[in-house]
Amino acid sequence: MYKQAVQSVMHTYGRFPITLVEGKGSNVWDDKGTKYLDFTSGIATCNLGHVPDEVKTAVAEQVEKLWHCSNLYHIPNQEKLAQTLTENSVGDQVFFCNSGAEANEAAIKIAKKYGHDVRNQANPHIITFKNSFHGRTMATLSATGQEKIQNGFTPLTPGFSYLPFNDDASLDALIAQKPTAVLLELIQGEGGVIPADATWMHKMAEICKELDILLMIDEIQTGIGRTGTLFAYEHYDIEPDVITLAKGLGSGFPIGAMIAKEHVAKVFSPGTHGSTFGGNPLAATAGLATISQFVESDILEQSNQLAAFIWSELQKLSSNKQAIKSIRGKGLLIGIEVDGNAMEYVNKAREEHQLLIVVAGPNIVRILPPLTASKTEAEQFIAIIDQLFV
Ligand SMILES: *Cc1c(COP(=O)(O)O)cnc(C)c1O
Repeated sequence: MYKQAVQSVMHTYGRFPITLVEGKGSNVWDDKGTKYLDFTSGIATCNLGHVPDEVKTAVAEQVEKLWHCSNLYHIPNQEKLAQTLTENSVGDQVFFCNSGAEANEAAIKIAKKYGHDVRNQANPHIITFKNSFHGRTMATLSATGQEKIQNGFTPLTPGFSYLPFNDDASLDALIAQKPTAVLLELIQGEGGVIPADATWMHKMAEICKELDILLMIDEIQTGIGRTGTLFAYEHYDIEPDVITLAKGLGSGFPIGAMIAKEHVAKVFSPGTHGSTFGGNPLAATAGLATISQFVESDILEQSNQLAAFIWSELQKLSSNKQAIKSIRGKGLLIGIEVDGNAMEYVNKAREEHQLLIVVAGPNIVRILPPLTASKTEAEQFIAIIDQLFV
């Protein structure tokens, strides 16, 4: 019976051999009652920990009232969430959808429309970067600068080209090509936890401003407090024209968003883009309750203290351990470059220490603690890392 059920799901994921049935804070439990320390946060999604009380209460209240009504009608919490996102970012208006790929799809569409309407381009062109990850739909995998994601799915969506990340030659190419937009992550997440160089990024932003190239930042993994500020762009003295969000926005309730500055947002008019579920009453409530925590509580301050502790302990460990080659990332998006196969460490952490972590490429172990993890949990994590690596 169980075997049949398992085989009824299409095999698009390599899954770890455990079944999680419950979660609270930094912990999850499997169907055998084993407790795990979850330092993946459902891949940078449960940033407030599992089943956070404030979001749970808000969603439970909304469940009693109205689940869905379509975007043919006004949705108060969607409007409040949009207002909160724009008041706390450089953006002016928000489009809601249901996932990261859809947020990037919306960004790609608005860039193409901007190319046609504002820059009078017959063939709008978007530059992305090697090693990036922007999603699995046809347009977003075409935007992704990794052949392993694109293999088998040609013909790709046209209109994209890829430049090397953190490379000055890419800035010259940008000036030469004057694309409609650039789309990039400030810390390449899936590609190996690689932060953009601050000087390089700043120069790129200046070029974009000068040449009316849209600067579109994919904050799907870095956003919602993951790097120590609400959005990662706040670390870089830049003003994106477009920001995409998903993962952490709903604390696990599926919701995505594309935030744009006014001069960009205005190229979308009724009928140009849409989504049945996007920002529906339940999703918008989860998003609003999540973002309200960031605006109203001291969670960012707490998470920065936690990050400072984890970083200093990891750095101490790495200087004594051959198996750890480097530590990189920002805030609570941390990559450990290991000597050997990262997946072996991930498996050992789960099997022998009940610690959940993930990989980001063949030799990077990726650590994504809940922003709400306690000092005790962080100490527990460091003790495990100490045992895991020689
Ligand atoms: C996860 C991710 C996506 C895709 O999000 P989905 O919700 O899986 O479609 C896009 N960009 C980045 C940077 C991501 O980390």
